Amino acid sequence: MTKNWRPATKLVHGGTLRSQFGETSEAIFLTQGFVYETAESAEARFKGETDGFIYARYGSPTNDMFEKRMCMLEGAEDARATASGMAAVTAAIMCQLKAGDHIVAARALFGSCRWVVETLAPKYGIECTLIDGKNLENWEKAIRPSTKVFFLESPTNPTLEVVDLIGVARLANQVGAKVVVDNVFATPLFQKPLELGAHVVVYSATKHIDGQGRCLGGVVLSDKQWIDENLHDYFRHSGPAMSPFNAWVLLKGLETMALRIKQQTENAARLADFLADHKAVAKVIYPGRKDHPQADIIARQMTGGSTLVALELKGGKSAAFALQNALEVVKISNNLGDAKSLITHPATTTHKNLSDEARDELGISAGLLRLSAGIEDGDDLIEDFDRALSAVAS
Ligand SMILES: *Cc1c(COP(=O)(O)O)cnc(C)c1O
Repeated sequence: MTKNWRPATKLVHGGTLRSQFGETSEAIFLTQGFVYETAESAEARFKGETDGFIYARYGSPTNDMFEKRMCMLEGAEDARATASGMAAVTAAIMCQLKAGDHIVAARALFGSCRWVVETLAPKYGIECTLIDGKNLENWEKAIRPSTKVFFLESPTNPTLEVVDLIGVARLANQVGAKVVVDNVFATPLFQKPLELGAHVVVYSATKHIDGQGRCLGGVVLSDKQWIDENLHDYFRHSGPAMSPFNAWVLLKGLETMALRIKQQTENAARLADFLADHKAVAKVIYPGRKDHPQADIIARQMTGGSTLVALELKGGKSAAFALQNALEVVKISNNLGDAKSLITHPATTTHKNLSDEARDELGISAGLLRLSAGIEDGDDLIEDFDRALSAVAS
């Protein structure tokens, strides 16, 4: 019966484990360990003959609720909650690879994700080829006999380009590689990579899942076999577990996520249209607009637009800085997915460590801004931009 629930219902009720007190709100089980009635029951638990928790690094009740709710939402068989999004990404990639293996990754990646595949993995003898993921041919050309993982995010940060997930999954399946998708920008409500053929999905729960700027978290989702064979032991013994307190905050975040994303997406779409018509703006990239260069792929694989908008100002860096400084409701911050509208200048913040050439390749110009729309009244956001843009000489 629960399988037929729609996403908003799953987000409120999915995975809830009630204690003997019948509490309405999910309880926090802030415990490191668990006690056993008898020595025999401890032995049976360790042998795996009985179900139950052993140690919070392996799993615990509040984390279990969070993992089950995420599984229901994503349509995944199993999941592990991690301390941050980067712990999820690192675990998902490293747990399944060994020296001599090869990764193909789209180069338009969140900065730390790019570091994991470009810098960390090679230290352990895992090679990585970074490609322009927009073009399917590039994925095919990069395949080697040792290719084990395809890694990508879609839409990408910060330029909101998309990768053809169905096409990439088809190529991966031909060579037995696993597709790992960082689905943060799409959110679990607007894109279901597992249904499109991907094998593993990762989130930074820090973003829309918390959505209120409080704590870090992440999650890795896949089928039971992949988790059992790859992540299970890695997760237990390398220790990226999420704090039960954070699992509780994130569970409560999931409860309101559908409402927040609906309002954020409405605001983002209105702002994208407003900005696209403004004379100081050279270009707007928004996955919900018909003029997105890959609108056909978006229609095939996404069920909603985005809470994010990329905009390029005609006046370059000075215009981008003037706009940021003149905004009042919209705050300057490198975070995203928050209830508060946030704007960032990628070239001088999130992507400042890339070389000039790498930034050019990714389309991160001096005039580019990334806006994460919040849940404020859309009229106030439009007025804020309208007023702030008049401060920008075009
Ligand atoms: C934020 C983010 C991450 C990293 O998540 P943390 O929770 O900050 O560790 C990874 N990928 C994407 C796309 C992100 O936006």
